[in-house]
Amino acid sequence: MPISEPAQIARITVDPEYRPAWFQEDAGAHVPLPPRSLTPPAAELPGVVAVWADTRHGRLPLVSVEAERGHIRYDWTDWRRFVLGEHYCTQTRPLYTRLPFHYHRVPGAIRHVAARALLARQSPSTQGETTFPGFPIEQGFELLAEVWARVGDGREATPPSSEIILTHDIDTGAGYRWVKPTAELELAHGYRSLWHVVGRGEPPDHAVLDWLVERGCTIGLHGYNHDNRLAFLPADRIRRRLDACRGLIERYDARSFRSPSWFRSDALFRVLRDYGMVDYSRLDTDRSCPGGVGGCLWTKRFKLDGLTHVPTTVPFEDPLYWGRSAEQLVDFWLPKIAWLRACGGNIVVNTHPDPQFSGNTRMLRAYDQLLTALFDTCP
Ligand SMILES: [Zn+2]
Repeated sequence: MPISEPAQIARITVDPEYRPAWFQEDAGAHVPLPPRSLTPPAAELPGVVAVWADTRHGRLPLVSVEAERGHIRYDWTDWRRFVLGEHYCTQTRPLYTRLPFHYHRVPGAIRHVAARALLARQSPSTQGETTFPGFPIEQGFELLAEVWARVGDGREATPPSSEIILTHDIDTGAGYRWVKPTAELELAHGYRSLWHVVGRGEPPDHAVLDWLVERGCTIGLHGYNHDNRLAFLPADRIRRRLDACRGLIERYDARSFRSPSWFRSDALFRVLRDYGMVDYSRLDTDRSCPGGVGGCLWTKRFKLDGLTHVPTTVPFEDPLYWGRSAEQLVDFWLPKIAWLRACGGNIVVNTHPDPQFSGNTRMLRAYDQLLTALFDTCP
C-alpha cells in the first residue's frame, strides 16, 4: 500500500518494569509511527504507560496497562506490516543505474572508492548515536513487540535460541577464486553456508559451485546481472530477468534470493513470492544499501504477504566503509552477536568473496576469527 504521508520516527522509552533482560541502555531504541491514513491512533490509552514515544510534537503513550490488560496506540497488525515491510522509508534509485552501460565496466578499484564515498555518508558515527536507525543494534521495534506480547495479545513471542546462517554474495567472476578458501574455513567448523550467485552476470564458475554443493552448501540467486536496476523495474520485467536465470535456478535448485546491493521493492517481493523463493534482501538495521538507510527492524525470520524474509543482521564488511580495519571487525560485531543471542535474533552473516571485500588474506583471517567466536563459544 503506498503511503503518502512521511512516517515519524520516535525514540522510545520502556518503563524499567517492562524492559526485557536484553535491553541495552546505550543502543538505538526507535520506532516508526504509522501515518493516520494507514491506521488511526487510539483516542486514549488508559492505565499505566509501559512504552513512551518522544516525538517532535511531545511525548506520546504507545502501550499502557490497566487491570492487567494491555492497550496499544495503533492496530498492531497494521503497525507490524508497516515496519517489517519497510513502508516507513523509501530507497533512492542511484543515478548510475540509468547509465547506458553496466556499472561493473568501471574498474573494480574505482567502483570501490565510489561505493566507499556513498556509504561513508551512511556511517553511524557521522549521523550521531541517537540517529535512526541505531547501528549495529536498533532494538526499538523488538522492544515494542516484546512488551506488547507480554501485556497485550501480541503474537511475537521470542524464540528460545538464535540460528547462525552464514551467507555470501559472489558479485563478480573475480570472487570465485576465494570461494573455496572461505568455505573450507566454515567446513572446518562443521558449517555449510549459503552462496548467492549472479544468474546472468559474468559466467558462473560451475566447477566451484558444484564443489560447494558436493559439500552440502546451498546456492541461491543474487539477481540477474548485478546492475542494481532489478528492484526498480516493473513486475513483468523482473519476471523476465528471473526467467532468464532458470538454468542456474534449476541446476542448483536455488530457493533463496538476495537482491544486488540490498535494493528492494514491493514489486520485487511480489515476484519472488511467485517463484517460491526465500528472501535475504532485508537487513534489520540497514546502512548497507546505497539507496538510503532503513531496515525491517526485526532480527528473526518472518513471513509477509506470503514471502519468507530472513533479515541479515551481521553485514560483516560494512564497518570497513567507515574506517574500521579488517583486524577490528570481530571486536566491532561481538556485542551485537551477544545481543542477538540474548534476544533470540538470528545471526545472519554476509560477506563477499570478491577481492575488494573479503577475497584477500587479511579479511579471510578476520572471518576465521569470527567463525571461532561464533562456533567455539556455542558449539
Ligand atoms: Zn552483490
